[in-house]
Amino acid sequence: MPLVPMRILLDHAAENGYGVAALNVNNMEQIQAIMEAARETESPVIIQASRGARSYSQDAYLRHLMLAAVELYPEIPVCMHQDHGNSPATCFSAIRQSFTSVMMDGSLSADGKTPSTFEYNVEVTKKVVEVAHMLGVSVEGEIGCLGGIEDGHGAGLSEDQLKLHLTDPDQAVEFVKQTGVDALAVAIGTSHGAYKFTKKPTGDVLSMTTIETIHKMLPNTHLVMHGSSSVPQELQDIINQYGGALKPTFGVPVEEIQRGIKHGVRKINVDTDNRLAITGAIRKVFAETPEKFDPRDYLKPARAAMKEVCKQRMIQFGQAGWGPKIKCKTIDDMAKVYGY
Ligand SMILES: [Zn+2]
Repeated sequence: MPLVPMRILLDHAAENGYGVAALNVNNMEQIQAIMEAARETESPVIIQASRGARSYSQDAYLRHLMLAAVELYPEIPVCMHQDHGNSPATCFSAIRQSFTSVMMDGSLSADGKTPSTFEYNVEVTKKVVEVAHMLGVSVEGEIGCLGGIEDGHGAGLSEDQLKLHLTDPDQAVEFVKQTGVDALAVAIGTSHGAYKFTKKPTGDVLSMTTIETIHKMLPNTHLVMHGSSSVPQELQDIINQYGGALKPTFGVPVEEIQRGIKHGVRKINVDTDNRLAITGAIRKVFAETPEKFDPRDYLKPARAAMKEVCKQRMIQFGQAGWGPKIKCKTIDDMAKVYGY
């Protein structure tokens, strides 16, 4: 099965009331971990690469690794998504590299740092939708701003500033109407990276009610939660036990994500949890068997640790079991659906 457009996976998730983890990758081991988790849980897969990932791994390596994944796991529908495209040019270069879905994040200016205007956001997102849909590629937009910075992308807003940049539901409705996006990332107080909340988040800092309001107003738009790693204490503990120095931090509780899934959330971005799992596993090998020097001695347990996190999320988000049941369409089929 070739790479599939994200719209197919999110439509199926909406029809059946589940969410799909969107997992970030930079290298072969991370792709292998996700695909093994998907096979064991029979899950559809969204694999995403940020601009930083594309520059770290180089597009050609990434493209061929993704093609290897679909060749080796023909029973699993896989979407390849550009995470946080900062400009139409980034999105178009992703499409040329066989990505089947792109995010045009016009909530920030092209520098990926400065919050932009609503008009700018509509203009760039609409431009990407016009070209992407002609080719059958799905588009995610974003309205409102998230906290933190990841891979050099983000406004670096603090927990207090975030409250001023939550998604305005009326603007969200207008944005979807004017741009025609397939999926919409909403800002509800989450941040990229490991340091999301200083204590277990309550409704003051993590606004799940915003999601519920937007879903009522836009029942047919697939909502996306960014910065949605749960940052489990046990993964933090492994890192710190073996010489790491993570400061105390809290992520987005899985039960809050599950509440979101009941209210239109179909894509959940998870990156930090996998990074923590990998780093913890590698630190453990280094600390317990310092005489080892074959990279496979630590990359194998790292891959296995990430696979476990991916499996947990696939089960918790409800995507497990659905992979082989999805009737897939190619991007060419999808272009016809969009009227091209
Ligand atoms: Zn994000």
